[in-house]
Amino acid sequence: MRSISHFIDGTSFSAGSLSRSQDVFDPNTGRVQASVELGDGGTLERAVAAAKAAQPAWAALNPQRRARVMFEFKRLIEAHMDELALLLASEHGKVVSDARGDIQRGLDVVEFACGVPHLMKGDYTEGAGPGIDVYSMRQPLGVVAGVTPFNFPAMIPLWMLAPAIACGNAFILKPSERDPTVPVRLAELMTEAGLPRGVLNVAHGDKAMVDAILDHPDIKAVSFVGSSDVAQYVYGRGAAKGKRMQCMGGAKNHGVVLPDADLDQTVADIMGAAYGSAGERCMALPVVVPVGEGTAEALREKLVSAIGGLRVGVSTDERAHFGPVVSAAHKARVERYIQMGVDEGAELVIDGRGFALKGHEQGFFMGPTLFDRVTPAMQTYQEEIFGPVLQMVRAESLPEAIGLASRHPYGNGVAIFTRNGEAAREFAAQVEVGMVGINVPIPVPVSYHTFGGWKRSGFGDLNQYGMDGVRFYTRTKTVTSRWPKTGPVSDQSFVMPTLSGR
Ligand code: NAD
Repeated sequence: MRSISHFIDGTSFSAGSLSRSQDVFDPNTGRVQASVELGDGGTLERAVAAAKAAQPAWAALNPQRRARVMFEFKRLIEAHMDELALLLASEHGKVVSDARGDIQRGLDVVEFACGVPHLMKGDYTEGAGPGIDVYSMRQPLGVVAGVTPFNFPAMIPLWMLAPAIACGNAFILKPSERDPTVPVRLAELMTEAGLPRGVLNVAHGDKAMVDAILDHPDIKAVSFVGSSDVAQYVYGRGAAKGKRMQCMGGAKNHGVVLPDADLDQTVADIMGAAYGSAGERCMALPVVVPVGEGTAEALREKLVSAIGGLRVGVSTDERAHFGPVVSAAHKARVERYIQMGVDEGAELVIDGRGFALKGHEQGFFMGPTLFDRVTPAMQTYQEEIFGPVLQMVRAESLPEAIGLASRHPYGNGVAIFTRNGEAAREFAAQVEVGMVGINVPIPVPVSYHTFGGWKRSGFGDLNQYGMDGVRFYTRTKTVTSRWPKTGPVSDQSFVMPTLSGR
């Protein structure tokens, strides 16, 4: 069976037979297709040593040369797109067209990082005082790390490693142990693009590896994306060690539908956002909030009809709308939530349990589920399900709908569907959520803006990618310099230097 090793100091590294390992499944067949090594503190030491040795020379290269490596990396990812998408789909379960989207959204951040000479420029003030000039510069932190979830095995590692490395850091990636192959391929491609060995290392593992990263004194910053309880734990433990931390968590995004929305377009948008990638996206729309009974009835009828047309299939089925969920355990968890919804009194309109794909009965497939008359007090509403399950929560007014999204413990994304500009503007201004879509169901910001949720969806202050990515992976040094004209020595002064007077 294929064994997936770490990637350290520019090459594959295996700790040998003593290492712990974990099965990697093909969710389409339910079969084990590989085994990934789970590293320990010793593996991390090796990665940190390689990173520490490589980082100073990498940081000392002028930024244009670092950008050239990013340009070549971008070209190589594009050249390997088909291979990467197939690999990704076979471990994650998403359909190949969606896997290409996963890679492309990461590639967008690589493209952004190609602008690093411009992005790292500091500020300059000439003549801030007599003969005094002030300038600031951005310097890399040194060795930094990223811990990523299973649901975007290309995009999220690239969100982190592209700006971190372009800014002159060395990076240690701890990808999800459930789909670890694509992150290793990305590291191989970056090495092929000319990245000096040791600048990017991939150390596989589970909680033990994450804890070792959080406790390591030579790792200066950790970027995390995953579920909220783990994000909060990682944030707390890393911050207590004095590290710079950014930790993105789970989500429960609401799609608010006003009576004047174009319902056919809205339903088309909601279908993709709720069921695409089997609902395993932190920017999925698992909650729809129709405003007014008339909207709710019309929406429900159209949703039921659209769900009837959904095709669940294997990742390589070009006509499939979505594939299996990631694991048998995750499938069982989603099914437990569906039963909980029934027990709580929500109306189960379409039940996706018990779905089996002919010829792939052992795959982790689920059909689409639709609940109506879900209420805010229900546990299935409060918690993230992360499967192909759409819950309808009926509201009577726009303020009630805004209140629902604002009071929800998660605050990653939200969308409103309407033709009313005034209502949309008010919604965007008021709602307590980090990313808002106006007639855009999955408002993941483009790479030169920045990604981050509020409340339990994000711990730390700086977002992923965009200028926040550059800020996170650099620190500012400000230099105040004086080059006085030749003349008499100025008097000693024991007061705080100021620019007194007008
Ligand atoms: P997860 O929290 O189980 O795992 C994320 C990472 O943390 C993995 O690398 C894993 O090995 C590690 N990990 C798991 N348990 C740990 C522990 N107890 N201590 C330390 N590390 C631990 O998340 P997942 O199931 O891989 O991913 C799905 C979750 O990620 C969902 O909640 C989803 O909403 C969230 N997500 C959020 C965003 C965002 O940007 N907000 C993006 C994608 C996914």
